[in-house]
Amino acid sequence: MKRFMKCELCNAEIADEKCMFAVHMRTRGGEDHYFCCERHADEFDTTHGNESEKTEG
Ligand SMILES: [Zn+2]
Repeated sequence: MKRFMKCELCNAEIADEKCMFAVHMRTRGGEDHYFCCERHADEFDTTHGNESEKTEG
């Protein structure tokens, strides 16, 4: 069974079965989010923030 995911940042299709592109995953609020590359995963982190982890005042 083929599973295609889409990068949540650029909507690029990510083929689960391919090994040449590692799927980058981030978990936010108990949900898994998938990205085509680490850069986009990091950007998602930046955009959506670590809401409850920052304690700087
Ligand atoms: Zn992407």
